[in-house]
Amino acid sequence: MQKHYSFQGVTLVTPDSVLENSSIGIEGKRIGSVGNADKHFVDYSGTLYVYPGLINIHDHLRGDYLPRVGPKNRAYYVNWSYWDNDLKGSDVVAERSNISVDQMYYLSAYKNLFSGVTTVNDHFPHEFNEPFIPHLPIRVISDYTLAHECSSYDLGWGDGVEIEHRRAVKRNHPFITHLEEGFDQESQQGIDYLESLNILDDHCVFIHCLGFSEEDIRKTSEAGAHVSWCPGSNIFMFNVTCKIREMLEAGINVSIGTDSTATGSVNLLEEVRFARRIYREMYQEDIPAETLVHMITRNPAKAFRMDDRIGRIEPGMFADLLFLRPRRADPYEALVEARMEDIALLTLEGKPIYGEADFHPIFEQREVDGEMLNVADRRMLVAGEPAGLLRTVRKAVGFEKHLDYLPFSMTEDES
Ligand SMILES: [Zn+2]
Repeated sequence: MQKHYSFQGVTLVTPDSVLENSSIGIEGKRIGSVGNADKHFVDYSGTLYVYPGLINIHDHLRGDYLPRVGPKNRAYYVNWSYWDNDLKGSDVVAERSNISVDQMYYLSAYKNLFSGVTTVNDHFPHEFNEPFIPHLPIRVISDYTLAHECSSYDLGWGDGVEIEHRRAVKRNHPFITHLEEGFDQESQQGIDYLESLNILDDHCVFIHCLGFSEEDIRKTSEAGAHVSWCPGSNIFMFNVTCKIREMLEAGINVSIGTDSTATGSVNLLEEVRFARRIYREMYQEDIPAETLVHMITRNPAKAFRMDDRIGRIEPGMFADLLFLRPRRADPYEALVEARMEDIALLTLEGKPIYGEADFHPIFEQREVDGEMLNVADRRMLVAGEPAGLLRTVRKAVGFEKHLDYLPFSMTEDES
């Protein structure tokens, strides 16, 4: 028999609609029922808003270290390669080199987990991340093909743009590439280049798109290609981001990504609020909270061609669920304004990976091993050993390192 648990009296944000005072039943790995679930499994107090587990469309899972590394004296970059040079010679990378790649992948996974993310894409090619993905506490997608960027100075990943794209079409995977991350002449020609190869289509997921012209936006929209918007990283490196309002008006499927913490926001929740703030600065108007919520749930699921499994709450979908204690009555505002300490429970394919101690019976039912942590004066259970990881990192770098995306306090911090 499949393992089952359910909740009643919760608000479900599907996210296309809001179902108040509803219920949800989880059967094995999937959502079994919505709106007619039977008796609840655990007693919980207070209000819970439930969302699809968040999806971070772009991160660098071996690069989530702090502090950021960027241009000095507001001399912003012309393209990403200048940043790459600064990064390589930085004190931060020297410090980071004491930590194993395996540990870096775990740090990134926890950065995402503690902000409600259950699915993420890693910037790097398969041969870089394959050994690490299976052990991580969240889903890192492995069904994708990629090119680093379509420029002469790109990192030459994969088998080249055309072969990688053809492979994506054949396998029904996304073809992911950085595009127009800069303002030199070559960076500006990304769309034209793909068009000349006849591979501009709905498999394409473009990261950054800073140099996009009105014409590029029109072509991207017509092709049904997808865009990953990383405003925190863009503003930090280039003091500008893509023409986001024009992209939305053109009907492009846009998702928000954090990029790594070497340049982007500290996690996806912070990135969403930064996106809202920068949009207001650019256009003197608000981007609706609902639009932002779509950009971290159903939009990236569509871009990854996984929208039959993740990104929405409905029967049959994976039970990747984020339960929040809302700080706003409006369910879309509640997610946009959420902080790490507002998370009550996070599940991945029905398995709890992070949650309040009250939800312990679900951890027991699903046989999840973890640690008990203090997060903003609450006792939280988390899958795996993030406190053990932080202890190892501190030992490796030789001091009491703090990473802003890890919200728990440890006894040595308190002393
Ligand atoms: Zn990247």
